Amino acid sequence: MSALYEHEAKDWIGGFGVAVPRGATAAGPAGVEAAAGGLTPPLVVKAFGPGLVHKSDAGAVRLGLGSAAEAAEAAAAMEADLAAHGVEAAGFLVEEQAEPGVEVIVGAVRDPAFGPVILAGLGGVWTEALHDTALRLSPITEADAHAMLDELRGRALLDGFRGQPAIDKGALVKVLLAVDQAVASLGGAFGEFELNPVVCGPSGAVAVDARRLDA
Ligand code: ADP
Ligand code: MG
Repeated sequence: MSALYEHEAKDWIGGFGVAVPRGATAAGPAGVEAAAGGLTPPLVVKAFGPGLVHKSDAGAVRLGLGSAAEAAEAAAAMEADLAAHGVEAAGFLVEEQAEPGVEVIVGAVRDPAFGPVILAGLGGVWTEALHDTALRLSPITEADAHAMLDELRGRALLDGFRGQPAIDKGALVKVLLAVDQAVASLGGAFGEFELNPVVCGPSGAVAVDARRLDA
């Protein structure tokens, strides 16, 4: 299995109509300030590299950076931190921070007999603790995508819970359909794909993390 880096996976899924944060990459901390030039703070900096899978666990995600200069400083500190743990970054992604919202996982796994299976779930970082996911064999229809969201135990979170606005379900359904189409386009090369999280607000849904493994 070979993996794309996050920004490559985002560029790819962006081509299927999924909204991703505006961002740019730099080979090292020194290039981060220039890379962040056209972006609107707050900014996020993430390191990428062959040994970096769960980035937050490794200290490779910094949120809430107020300027391009702050982003560069964060990248330098991150590089030193990672090096102290024996991890070398291949580069840094600096991107705009999405407005807070409900974090949803959208993904696809490969069933050896039936091919791609599309997954939707609640939780973002809490996915593994919540075990609240819906699955459908690909290809899925728009009605399937809506049904998947409706069968989540935590679906009330999508409909506006405790005074929170309801999320833009139409936008999230479009993400599910785009992921379905995208993984189908890979044919036999498809291994695994995950957007975790897709941050869902009252208008729009933004995939702030993407991971693609090819078979
Ligand atoms: P990983 O899953 O590898 O630890 P993520 O890229 O998912 O790393 O980042 C960790 C968390 O940081 C996300 O679950 C999300 O809450 C937040 N985050 C990451 N990128 C952004 C962004 N561009 N805008 C808003 N929040 C973000
Ligand atoms: Mg993630």
